Amino acid sequence: MPATFRRTKIIFTLGPATESEAMLEKLIGAGADIVRLNMAQATHEWTRTVIRRIRAVSIRLGREVAIMMDIKGPEIRTGDLAVPIELKPGEIFDFTVKPGTARENAEEIRSVDVNYRDLVNDIRVGDTVLVDNGLIRLEVLAKNDARIRCRVLIPGQLASRRHINLPGVKVNLPSFTAKDRADSLVGLEAGVDFLALSFVREAADITHLRDFLAEHKSKVGIIAKIEDQSAIINLDEIVRACDGLMVARGDLGIECPFEELPVIQRRAVRTCLTQGKPVIVATHMLESMISQPVPTRAEITDVANAVFELADCVMLSGETTIGKYPLECVQILDKIACRIEAEDDSAAPQLVEVNTERMRVLRSAVVLANSLPGSKLLTFTRYGTMVQGLAALRPVSAPILAFTPLPDLHRRMRLLRAVEPYLMPFASEPDITIENAIIHLRRLGRVVPGDKLIVATDILSQDRLVESVQLRTVS
Ligand code: PGA
Ligand code: MN
Repeated sequence: MPATFRRTKIIFTLGPATESEAMLEKLIGAGADIVRLNMAQATHEWTRTVIRRIRAVSIRLGREVAIMMDIKGPEIRTGDLAVPIELKPGEIFDFTVKPGTARENAEEIRSVDVNYRDLVNDIRVGDTVLVDNGLIRLEVLAKNDARIRCRVLIPGQLASRRHINLPGVKVNLPSFTAKDRADSLVGLEAGVDFLALSFVREAADITHLRDFLAEHKSKVGIIAKIEDQSAIINLDEIVRACDGLMVARGDLGIECPFEELPVIQRRAVRTCLTQGKPVIVATHMLESMISQPVPTRAEITDVANAVFELADCVMLSGETTIGKYPLECVQILDKIACRIEAEDDSAAPQLVEVNTERMRVLRSAVVLANSLPGSKLLTFTRYGTMVQGLAALRPVSAPILAFTPLPDLHRRMRLLRAVEPYLMPFASEPDITIENAIIHLRRLGRVVPGDKLIVATDILSQDRLVESVQLRTVS
């Protein structure tokens, strides 16, 4: 386990490079906090197997990570091709939405099917169609109810089942597809901690998923992945509706002009900080390390930027699914984050809205912690609101040692910046619970006599919920 406490959390995506027990042990041991399962790539059998494996390894290491199931949401893809098509610059090319249209095409214009029939209604002449992660670019010239006729602007090789992006087009696909539903049910049954919903366009997308979770009596947290222009327009309401946000820069960088990406990231992180919601910066953080053992200077600076922005988590995708250096990627994120966090950011403005009594009490705890160098925050939580409030206040250097008796909340707290979760049953007397926690921390060497602890609690005191802040010195 890394020796230094790191505030920024690390998420990695599981894949062939990391799914073995030995690799899981290494990455979790190196300090990874959350494992992401990308359902665009996963079968249900694989999902069940790896969830069991992650849990077993976690228990063995005494470090319970959280599991995030990433469901793919609405996605438009090209159909199957017997052989890839080499698109030429300026070529006229059709996307067909009715099976069979291709063969009736007398003009000898090459074409491919698209898996979404209503595309012809959503798209307008003049729109841009991007294929295969934006590598191929076409412009819409004309359309009828069977096909969309385009001109190739940036050529490339079109293979089977490639992802299509339509910058600025409002697509009328459902946000939670039949596949998402089936995947989620497997996730709920196997006990994932978060569901990440791809291509969230408005708050209602989250409300639908929340209704589905309520139907299944699930407490799983909802992460909204913002990936297109609608999500940016509706950012405030999306952040308000979700339990956490993911800045999904892979698709965002295709759906939006690329120079907007840093501006969007900064705005998204600030919106989350203001509303007190956790935020993940994702995709291409150490992309070159898929094949190289060291990051580029630009990647180091990009990771540092996310830490300077005070994001809760940074995330690895291809780096840990198919990359050659998955363990090194986690170690490098750890190293960069720890170094940047050591920079004095006491001047960083506290953005979170403090408009409830509870937040005022928590703020006084954080102000106290900030004024006592070397102090630690200690909190006890059953619902997670207290600890989320403390994390949102972004204490300058104090770690947030958070105790809960609930195993699922214990894992979900992995998402929160600067929070170190501990699982422990609570005693009926709050004072005894606090004493037990301190004894536990002393045993671990996490606190030593003389340490200043700022205890923020709302545990029952004579049958009433009393929010309180105490300053204790470890004896
Ligand atoms: P994906 O989402 O990896 O599921 O595409 C992340 C992103 O688009 O950045
Ligand atoms: Mn994406």
